[in-house]
Amino acid sequence: MNNKLYGKLIFELSHEGRKAYSLPENTFGEYELPDEMTRKTDMQLPECDELTVVRHYTNLSGNNFGVDNGFYPLGSCTMKYNPYIDEEIAARPEFTSIHPAQPTETCQSALAVYYNLQKSLSELTGLSEFTLNPFAGAHGELTGLMIIRAYHESRGDGKRNKVIVPDSAHGTNPASAAVCGLEVVEVKSKHDGTIDVEHLKTLLDDTIAAIMMTNPNTLGLFEPAIPEIAELVHGCGALLYYDGANLNPMLGVCRPGDMGFDVMHINLHKTFSTPHGGGGPGSGPVGVRKGLEQFLPTPKVVKNGDKYEIITNDEGIHVGAFLGNFCVDVKAYTYILTLGKEYIKSVGPLATLNANYIKESLKDVYELPIEGLCKHEFVFNGLKDKSTGVTTMDIAKRLLDFGFHAPTIYFPLLFHEAMMIEPTENESKETIDGFIATMRQIANEAATNPDIVKSAPHNAPIGRVDDVLAAKHPILTYQKG
Ligand SMILES: *Cc1c(COP(=O)(O)O)cnc(C)c1O
Repeated sequence: MNNKLYGKLIFELSHEGRKAYSLPENTFGEYELPDEMTRKTDMQLPECDELTVVRHYTNLSGNNFGVDNGFYPLGSCTMKYNPYIDEEIAARPEFTSIHPAQPTETCQSALAVYYNLQKSLSELTGLSEFTLNPFAGAHGELTGLMIIRAYHESRGDGKRNKVIVPDSAHGTNPASAAVCGLEVVEVKSKHDGTIDVEHLKTLLDDTIAAIMMTNPNTLGLFEPAIPEIAELVHGCGALLYYDGANLNPMLGVCRPGDMGFDVMHINLHKTFSTPHGGGGPGSGPVGVRKGLEQFLPTPKVVKNGDKYEIITNDEGIHVGAFLGNFCVDVKAYTYILTLGKEYIKSVGPLATLNANYIKESLKDVYELPIEGLCKHEFVFNGLKDKSTGVTTMDIAKRLLDFGFHAPTIYFPLLFHEAMMIEPTENESKETIDGFIATMRQIANEAATNPDIVKSAPHNAPIGRVDDVLAAKHPILTYQKG
């Protein structure tokens, strides 16, 4: 780009004395601050004219890659297209200008949305009741584990202090268990990527509070042994927790509640139409099966006759600020209503079809450690031919040159060169074919001209950053010179 502003830091555009504002002359007089509160040196803010500021930030925003720019096949995170109508509805003043503490009779419609979303999630998952209070998936996990602990304690069963987590689990699972004060016990996966039930049997005893499972798991595989696992886990007095981050491929097709799960969370920002990445806002509703409703956190919205009310139980669990991220709930409810009962059933099969199409089209050049049908995502273990030393990181960087975001890389940890691809349901065949062609081209370059892949990206505003240095010694302030 032939633009002198492009790629510069705002401090480098600064000229002493230049301003982007003009204020009327001060007619109020100066207020004397106590000496210890006054600044002795200038703040060293950049000084720029307004157009420079506008262009600088507009150019910066163009450096972001998002689902609105291009294909974003990030596995485990479901970076799917979220219809703009959901944003429009959630931005309506009827929803944005209400206050959490205003009298409930003045916001009955908003409470109806909240209540109906709770009910819709129950119907979609086969669980009895939901709280929308948690702010993210990990927050939902913590809430779910607190519910499970409260359940065991209510039965005088105080020694259950361990949680079983598969070795393929998302990192938040063991982290949430640890934050909840529970000990993590790892259950192994078999060679086919599913839970090793024989190993699980050796772990079950009266100190186990729960097992946390993701289904389809982080390899995109539907766990076939769930009925058996449910029987074993319930048999030892523990509960089944379902990590619902991968609910997308099952929407309207099958339900965790019918499989024997007792408690689960949903990531509204993955499955139900809130753009995510960049840290939020998200929402991690938690649902429980019949018999566990009394352990859900409050406040909650209930329906009394045809009036909606907010009730709070001071005794029970409290997990967040009031009723959660309401506008995220509005988007989720809009998404569910616009698809409706009939079309919500298409989400899972289409996502599954797209994933299998990519997998089958590329498995002759990329190593596929686990063969067979996947659900919404699958994992390659780098290139089939690794002889030229091109790594998964190199491929991820090279994809940027062609306008594709990288898949999730180096997760799950089961494979050294993991590359986890999730195309989601909305992508056109042309986009997916373009991705496949590019992946084939990169594989070809890796064989014939590996340096071009190893030194990628060539078209991005910055090349490769030193991840370690950026994490260990981040420079968070900038000063000219
Ligand atoms: C994203 C994800 C989580 C955590 O959800 P957050 O909303 O990011 O906290 C947990 N488990 C799996 C499988 C996930 O993909």
